[in-house]
Amino acid sequence: MGPAYHAPLRDMRFALRELAPWARLQALPAFAGLDDDTVDAVLEECARLVQAEVAPLNVTGDRQPPSWQEDGSVRMPPGFREALAAYAGGGWQGLMHPAEHGGQGLPRALATPCLEMLQSASLAFSLCPLLTDGAIEALLLAGSPEQQARWVPALIEGRWTGTMNLTEPQAGSDLAQVRTRAEPQADGRYRLFGQKIFITFGEHDLADNILHLVLARVRGAPEGVKGLTLFAVPKCLPGPGGEGALRNDVRCTALEHKLGIHGSPTAVLVYGEGAGDVGPGALAERVGEENRGLELMFIMMNAARFQVGLQGVAIGERALQQARAFAGDRVQGRAAGAAASAAASAGSTAPILAHPDVRRLLMRMRCQVEAGRALAVVTAAWADLAHHEPDAAERARCRARQEFLVPIVKGWNTEASVEVASLGVQVHGGMGYIEETGAAQHLRDARILPIYEGTTAIQANDLLGRKTLRDGGAVAREFLADVLAVAAAARARPEADLQAVGRLLDQAGAALGEAVDWMLAHAAAQPARAHAGAVPYLMLCGHVLGGALLGRSAVLCAARLAAGEGGAFERGKIATARFFAEHLLAQAPALAGAIASGGAGVLDFPDELN
Ligand SMILES: Cc1cc2nc3c(=O)[nH]c(=O)nc-3n(C[C@H](O)[C@H](O)[C@H](O)COP(=O)(O)OP(=O)(O)OC[C@H]3O[C@@H](n4cnc5c(N)ncnc54)[C@H](O)[C@@H]3O)c2cc1C
Repeated sequence: MGPAYHAPLRDMRFALRELAPWARLQALPAFAGLDDDTVDAVLEECARLVQAEVAPLNVTGDRQPPSWQEDGSVRMPPGFREALAAYAGGGWQGLMHPAEHGGQGLPRALATPCLEMLQSASLAFSLCPLLTDGAIEALLLAGSPEQQARWVPALIEGRWTGTMNLTEPQAGSDLAQVRTRAEPQADGRYRLFGQKIFITFGEHDLADNILHLVLARVRGAPEGVKGLTLFAVPKCLPGPGGEGALRNDVRCTALEHKLGIHGSPTAVLVYGEGAGDVGPGALAERVGEENRGLELMFIMMNAARFQVGLQGVAIGERALQQARAFAGDRVQGRAAGAAASAAASAGSTAPILAHPDVRRLLMRMRCQVEAGRALAVVTAAWADLAHHEPDAAERARCRARQEFLVPIVKGWNTEASVEVASLGVQVHGGMGYIEETGAAQHLRDARILPIYEGTTAIQANDLLGRKTLRDGGAVAREFLADVLAVAAAARARPEADLQAVGRLLDQAGAALGEAVDWMLAHAAAQPARAHAGAVPYLMLCGHVLGGALLGRSAVLCAARLAAGEGGAFERGKIATARFFAEHLLAQAPALAGAIASGGAGVLDFPDELN
C-alpha cells in the first residue's frame, strides 16, 4: 500500500527559517523564548505522532468509510477515535490558539508544517481538526467572553469538535441563497429550521459533542448576503441528566458517497424537524451581531482556505514520496542515453528512475510541492505578523500581504495537487491506476481540494476583485518588486543555473506586471473579459510567486555551497529552482497573453451551441 509517510522536516525547516521572516517573528514579544531547539522539538514530535498514529488511518478510512445508522448516528472507521484523542491530548489542536484559552500560542508559521504533516498522513482524518480550528477561530473572533470560556477549551481539548455549515442545496458558491431560518426566542436564544448539505464531520462518534457553526437568516433580515447571521448550535445540550444529556434538534439524515476522502463523513444535516429532546427548532446562540455572519465567515474562511491550500501541498508530498519509492524499485527497460552507465554496460535494465521522462515527472511533482510549501509557510508568517506586530500600520501592511496570498495558496496549490497526484499515478504506470498501490487514492482525495472552501473560480474572483483591483494593484506591485529583487540577486550569481533562474524570473515578473496593468486598465469597462482571465491570473501569480521563493532558495543555497558549506540538499534546491523556472516560469508570458487577449475566445462562443 505504498511506503510509510516520512515528514520532510529538512525542507520544512528551510521554508520556516530561511524563507519566512522568521527572525522578525522570533523578535515579537508574543513569541519570546521560541528558540530553534523548541522549533525542532515541536516539528520532530509532531512527525513522530502523525507517522505512527495517523498515517496508517489513510488506507483504513478509504477502505472502511464512516457508516450512517438509522438513528442518525455515524460510526467512524477503526482507529480514528484513538488518533483524535492522541492528537488533541498531545496539545496539537491548540498549537496556534491562545494560551489563555488552553492553547500553546505558537506562531501559525510553525503550526503550518505541523498541519501539513497531519494532512499528508491522512487528508480525510485531518479535516476534523481543521473544522475544529475554524470553529475556535470564529468564537475567538466574534463569540462573547462567556461563549469562548464555555466552548473553546472543550474544542482545544478534543472533547468537542467543530463544523462549518454554509452550504444548502440551492446555496453553494452563492451564499446569498441561504434559506435556513432563525426564530428569536424570549431567552435571547434562537431556533433554527432548515437543511444544510455537504457538512464535513457533521456527525461522528469521535468526541462527546459537536459545535455546529451555522449561517442562517433571522426572520425579517434583508435579502442576500447582508441578511446572514452566524449561530452556534451544539449537537447536545446540558439537561437534568448532566452535560450533553439532551439531543438538540439537529439530525444527520444521510452521508454522501464521494470520489475521495472516504474517511471524512460528509453529512446532510436537518435542523428543526422535531427530532431532538428540545422541541421543534434547533436551539442556537448567536455568534457576533445579527446580519454580520458573512463578514465573520469571510475572516474565518481566510484561515480555512489557507488550510485547504496547504492540503494541496500535503497530498502532493504524499504522492511524491510514493512515486519516488516506486520509481526506485520498478525495473523496466534501459534509459535513453544510459549506454555509458555501469548498469547498461553490464547489459542489465535499470529502475525507471533512470528514464529521463520519469525524472521529469518526479521533478515536476517535487518543484510544485516545494514551491507550494514555501508559499504557505510565508503566508502563515504574514498572518502572524498581521496579528502581533506592535505597530498598527505595519500590522495592516502584513494583513494586506497575507490576504493577497490566501486565494493563491488555495487556488494554485489545490489545482496543482490534482496534477501532481495524477503524475504520481503516471509514474506508477498501470500499477497506479489500480487501487492496490494507493497512488490512485491520492488522486481521488486531491480532486475535492479545488472545489470546497470556494472553488478555484471563487478564489480567482477574490484575488482579482478584492485583492488586486480594490487597492489599484498596490499589494500586487509590492510583491512584484520582491520578485524582481530575487531575479536580480540570482542574475548576480556566477553560477549558470542561477543566471537561468534570474533571467526567467525577470521575464515572468514582467509578464505578471503586464497582467496586473491589463486588469487595472480593462476590468471596469470589460468585467466579463477580466473575469474570463481571473483563473489564469491566479495561476500566473502562483507561478511567479512560487518561482520567486524557489529562486530565493537557490540564491541562498548557491552562496552556501560557494562558501564550502552544504551538500546534496543545497544542490537539490538549486536544481529544483532551475527546473521550475524552465518548465513553469517559462509559461508566464503565455499566461499573460491569454489574460490580455483570451477573453473574447471565452465569451464569443455562441450561447446556442453551449
Ligand atoms: C466533500 C465536500 C465537503 C464539503 N464540506 C463543506 C462543509 O464542511 N461546510 C460547508 O458549508 N460546505 C461544504 N462543502 C460545500 C462546498 O464548499 C461547495 O461544494 C463549494 O463551495 C461549491 O459549491 P457548489 O458545489 O454548490 O458548486 P456551484 O456553486 O454550483 O459551482 C458550480 C461551478 O460553477 C462555478 N461558479 C459558481 N459561481 C461562480 C462565480 N461567481 N464565478 C465563477 N464561477 C462560478 C464554480 O466555480 C463551479 O465550477 C463541501 C463539499 C464537498 C463536496
